[in-house]
Amino acid sequence: MSCIFCKIVDGSIPSTAIYEDDLCYAFADIHPQAPEHILIVPREHIASMADCVQSERSLLGHLLWAAAEIAQGKQLAKGYRVVINTGEDGGQTVEHLHLHLLGGRSLSWPPG
Ligand code: 5GP
Ligand code: ZN
Repeated sequence: MSCIFCKIVDGSIPSTAIYEDDLCYAFADIHPQAPEHILIVPREHIASMADCVQSERSLLGHLLWAAAEIAQGKQLAKGYRVVINTGEDGGQTVEHLHLHLLGGRSLSWPPG
């Protein structure tokens, strides 16, 4: 298994843990783009949002719920952004589904 996020989930690549449960693991992004930049990944390997199947609907909802829980714990009351880069045009560079939770500064729109 060569997936770096699977290795982060199993602990063979170190990371700074933010949150974890039976379905997902959240850790600090190694190149933060905001004062808070957290990645939330499913424990099971799913390559991207485009690869999700019907049986993973509740897992997708759980990942969003985890993002909201983490944001609440980080006191991002002024707001935050959740991003799922998907595929080549979406700017995805790691092929293991992940949510970016970004906050702690004002974020511009539209994204690049
Ligand atoms: P993507 O571009 O696929 O949406 O996001 C991948 C993210 O993973 C990037 O923000 C990048 O900084 C982060 N990343 C890549 N490799 C590592 C790593 O080994 N550890 C951590 N903590 N983050 C990583
Ligand atoms: Zn993986």
